[in-house]
Amino acid sequence: MTQSSFEEIGAVLRSKESFAVLSHVRPDGDALGSQLGLGLSLSKLGKKVVVRNEDGLLEKYSFLPGGEFLRTPLGEPQDFDVAIALDTATQNRLGTATELVRSAKIWINIDHHPSNPGYGDLVYIDPTAPATGQILFELITSQGLPIDASIAENLFVAISTDTGSFQYPNTTARTFEIGAELLRCGVNIGRVSQLLYESYPRRRAELLRELLGTMRFNGHGKVASFSLSLKTAAELHAKPEDNEGLIDHLRAIQGVVVAVFFEELVDGKVRVSMRSKSDAADVCAICQKFGGGGHKLAAGARVRGTLAEVEEKVLKEICNVVDCNS
Ligand code: AMP
Ligand code: MN
Ligand code: MN
Repeated sequence: MTQSSFEEIGAVLRSKESFAVLSHVRPDGDALGSQLGLGLSLSKLGKKVVVRNEDGLLEKYSFLPGGEFLRTPLGEPQDFDVAIALDTATQNRLGTATELVRSAKIWINIDHHPSNPGYGDLVYIDPTAPATGQILFELITSQGLPIDASIAENLFVAISTDTGSFQYPNTTARTFEIGAELLRCGVNIGRVSQLLYESYPRRRAELLRELLGTMRFNGHGKVASFSLSLKTAAELHAKPEDNEGLIDHLRAIQGVVVAVFFEELVDGKVRVSMRSKSDAADVCAICQKFGGGGHKLAAGARVRGTLAEVEEKVLKEICNVVDCNS
């Protein structure tokens, strides 16, 4: 895979006319903030832009500026000069959004997942970046693309959510400098943080109560997990987005090295979400064994089987990697 430079990507953004800005299914703050941040910047540059995600704009991110542009990929495929995949480790994780842009002449792939194979014509993958939003800030500012308070707020949300509010070890000095720049662009950090971290629906707390009821420990307390069945999710009227971040309650426990969340899906698969507190426990490598991917300290996979089957297989594999004997 050859990496493209910001100059090469900037030249395409300036010279082409129509763009589809996409990101992964079950989007997180980095996916949606990156899509809207770049989408608004291209729009301000005078381009024709559509921003599409298989799951649309999640309710909890409905405050994002420009959120009305982020829609599900309905209707006939359209012609675009350029399709841009953001924060998306494999092209199939774009889901139905790909259908919309079959005829795009150029694909740009901007991401920070080390497992990204580098699909597309212009590729910029920086695994040292804590968020795709951070890469986009560098791209936008280095190429003199438009940035305003709305664009900055989207990029701030992207970076804040993927760094656990500037706490995870992927956070660098540069991340704080960019945070400061975004505040200078007009981001109101108190307001945005409250909307992001102190405005959860009550359902989410009720879901946490249920999940903690299923909490178990393996490997002498180094591996903590909990699981969500379809039945419980239905009883609580839980939305898929409600569980984003709940795994952090497991990671936050003293002695826990790997945290795992198992979520039963309707298609006979289980969504496995993993977090690690140690470079020695590379959860991306573990998830890749099950067909997934992600980062060293945060990764996921979708594994066929019942909850009980997948729990057993995955926990066994984790114990093979993490020294669970002491
Ligand atoms: P999650 O646990 O869903 O928050 O995902 C953690 C990280 O792993 C994110 O960066 C995801 O993009 C990545 N990831 C999750 N599921 C998959 C998958 N099935 N394939 C590849 N990467 C994934
Ligand atoms: Mn993401
Ligand atoms: Mn990301």
